[in-house]
Amino acid sequence: MQDFSGIKENYKKIAAVIPENVQLVAVSKTHPAEAVQEIYNMGQKVFGENKVQELVEKQTLLPKDIQWHLIGHLQTNKVKYIAPFVDTIQSVDSEKILKEIDKQATKNDRKIKVLLQVKIAAEDTKFGFAIEEAEQIFQSYLENKYPHVEINGLMGMATFTENKNQIAQEFKVLKDLFDKLSLKQPLAVLSMGMSDDYPIAIKSGANSVRIGSSIFGRRNYDV
Ligand SMILES: *Cc1c(COP(=O)(O)O)cnc(C)c1O
Repeated sequence: MQDFSGIKENYKKIAAVIPENVQLVAVSKTHPAEAVQEIYNMGQKVFGENKVQELVEKQTLLPKDIQWHLIGHLQTNKVKYIAPFVDTIQSVDSEKILKEIDKQATKNDRKIKVLLQVKIAAEDTKFGFAIEEAEQIFQSYLENKYPHVEINGLMGMATFTENKNQIAQEFKVLKDLFDKLSLKQPLAVLSMGMSDDYPIAIKSGANSVRIGSSIFGRRNYDV
């Protein structure tokens, strides 16, 4: 039997410092279903995964009222595996993937909530729309081009740096876009902030944070 007391302690601490109006998405990628179950038992219902296969495996094993968020880059040929159950796809980063989500949602006779992932980091490794692209996509959404998709908000990742001013500056870019788009039609979710930068994200206006290692511990990618 693995000992989950450390994870439970971490979760308690994080949950205590996240303001009530901010949603906590517990990022369980690479960690076993048993660890998710422990946190679930403490009241956490929203979990994030970044890989389709791992998400599907855990969804099969775990309670059905968990709201699963996909937070990693999604390939078009894999949308069909998560379309029946996924709560929110946070990582929509191309028009092609948005179209496929709309198609698979139609097949499943449901609407799928998504966030547009916007590139705000200086690093060029991160996925996401440019600001202008996100504006265009949102406009065609408002013109009802994706009837089985609900664009619920925006997601972004700041540069991995010690420079807090830079991180705050990048989050501000996303908050400004969030406010601008919300004038056309109110958006609900501004998802930014991870273990290292969530306090800055919340100060910058995030109302959803994605926290993994500060709850579940360091990830071991070798297993
Ligand atoms: C892994 C991941 C997180 C969580 O990162 P931590 O630093 O472990 O909190 C958040 N967002 C995305 C998109 C991720 O891939």
